[in-house]
Formats: sequence, C-alpha cells, structure tokens
Amino acid sequence: MEPDCIFCQIVAGRLPAEFVHQGEAVVAFHDLDPQAPVHVLVVPKRHSRDIGELGADPEAAAEVLAGIRGVVDELGLTQYRTVFNTGPGAGQSVFHVHAHVLSGRSFGWPPG
Ligand code: 5GP
Ligand code: ZN
Repeated sequence: MEPDCIFCQIVAGRLPAEFVHQGEAVVAFHDLDPQAPVHVLVVPKRHSRDIGELGADPEAAAEVLAGIRGVVDELGLTQYRTVFNTGPGAGQSVFHVHAHVLSGRSFGWPPG
C-alpha cells in the first residue's frame, strides 16, 4: 500500500466508496465525478502505477479484466467503453492503475 494513494486508501477501507463489485484481487466502485450515466472504476487491490506496470504481471492484469467482467455482469451492461489513461498527458490523475467502465450514453470516436 502507498500511504498517499487515494485508491489504496479506498481499498483499505480508510476512504468511503460506493462499491459495485469486490473480488479477491480487485474492487470496483462508482467514480466521484461520473462522465456517463454509468461510470465505474475497476481497481486492483495491489498498487501499480499504470497499465504498463500492471502488464508486467499478467496474472494481475487478468484479474482486472475479470473485474471488468464482474461489473458488466453486475450492472447488466451490453454496450460500454473501457479506458485506461496512462500519464497526465493522456488524462491520468490518480496514479494507481484503474479501468474506467463507462456506459449509458453514446461515445464518439476518435476519443477527445
Ligand atoms: P484518471 O484521471 O486517473 O484516469 O481517473 C481518476 C478518476 O478517479 C477520475 O475519473 C476521478 O473522478 C476519480 N476519483 C478521484 N478521486 C476519487 C475518489 O476519492 N473517489 C472516487 N470514487 N473517485 C475518485
Ligand atoms: Zn495505490
């Protein structure tokens, strides 16, 4: 756990969150500032900075994909967008890797 990381604190139960799914290695909770009618963050319990670091551990990476599937099943989503922002220039603001799962509206392509 990284003491200054807000997602580590949510995982540890020290900060509140509205959980959608909790697995052995992953949690999922609603984003504080939703960008779509459904906006859930899928977060591995073990701290990694970004998807590059997560990808060095294929088992942990697979657990995040399974967590996305858990959210999709739990909320009955059929169409959704999944985003990993990596680095501030790509929109990352919390440096504990997470997948955004967005649904409930249409999405443009290419993304902004
Ligand atoms: P990023 O910008 O790193 O891709 O995504 C971080 C996301 O975390 C943002 O969408 C932001 O709204 C969300 N967020 C930041 N702090 C909190 C928090 O304390 N609780 C929750 N539920 N979401 C947060
Ligand atoms: Zn963390």
